[in-house]
Amino acid sequence: AKHGSKGSVAVFDAAMDQAQQERREFAEDLRRALAANELWLAFQPVVDIATSRVVYFEALLRWTHPTKGLVPPDRFIAVAETTGLIAEIGKWVLKTATRIAATWPDDIGVAVNLSPVQLGDERLDEMVFGALAKSGLDAHRLELELTEAVFIRHGERARSFIEKMNAVGVRIALDDFGTGFSSLGYLTRLPVHKLKIDRSFVSGQTALKERNAVISAVISMARALSMETTAEGIENEAELAWIRGLGCNQGQGYYFAKPLRAEDVQPFLDRRSRR
Ligand code: C2E
Ligand code: CA
Ligand code: CA
Ligand code: CA
Repeated sequence: AKHGSKGSVAVFDAAMDQAQQERREFAEDLRRALAANELWLAFQPVVDIATSRVVYFEALLRWTHPTKGLVPPDRFIAVAETTGLIAEIGKWVLKTATRIAATWPDDIGVAVNLSPVQLGDERLDEMVFGALAKSGLDAHRLELELTEAVFIRHGERARSFIEKMNAVGVRIALDDFGTGFSSLGYLTRLPVHKLKIDRSFVSGQTALKERNAVISAVISMARALSMETTAEGIENEAELAWIRGLGCNQGQGYYFAKPLRAEDVQPFLDRRSRR
């Protein structure tokens, strides 16, 4: 029996080694991809529900791998976070998103996702200021999307970062709102502008009654705290009508548009303005 258990440990170790090896190779591949310009940004419009006007586009990271094809961000961002590569990738995203957004009409903004890991970097504020200066994008046109996780990981630093962003006019949104597990108390103490209601509450599997309750609660809380709300994942007219009825400020989702290539942004805006 002793011998047998030792054997299974060896098998287990071998499996661990292989998983680790695969992660290492994946990370190496990602590092190469960044240098080889395989990463690019897609832009998904966020629409003002009352006026139907496009307010800004959210930058979403894409990786076209030479053999694997399109690798979803949910898969490679986690690897980038555990290997520290997210710092470099995040910097590239900020620089690229601001540079591209600076070519759009000046009433259209851009939102950039920040990983909680990036909030651990004490020079993140300088990176944001650098990207704004280099691109010439007005600070008011930039919105940064953070998740609740940053307040668990980097409470104080997140707070001072948000205050610095506020001071220059960069807006802050809390992404995936409702899926976190942190206390709501921090919301009253943080100068956050917007809550993005997670897609799972908009077009999720949960019963409509429950989704209604969650979204209504988030919207009334946001109102009480003078914050805006954006509903993610609106996929059809019925969902839009329902979200509009609940009083959400902005909507995003396939009903308006899927994430677009940079070169399709201006034609998309032109088409909408002609309607
Ligand atoms: P997220 O920030 O919650 O982004 C919204 C996701 O929902 C995007 O997935 C978008 O394509 C998708 N989506 C939008 N509307 C609809 C809809 O109507 N139906 C459905 N089914 N999906 C919709 P995507 O592009 O695959 O991104 C996944 C996640 O990867 C993002 O979730 C974000 O957490 C992360 N991510 C993407 N780009 C970046 C980045 O530049 N930096 C960081 N740190 N994370 C990023
Ligand atoms: Ca987001
Ligand atoms: Ca989200
Ligand atoms: Ca998400």
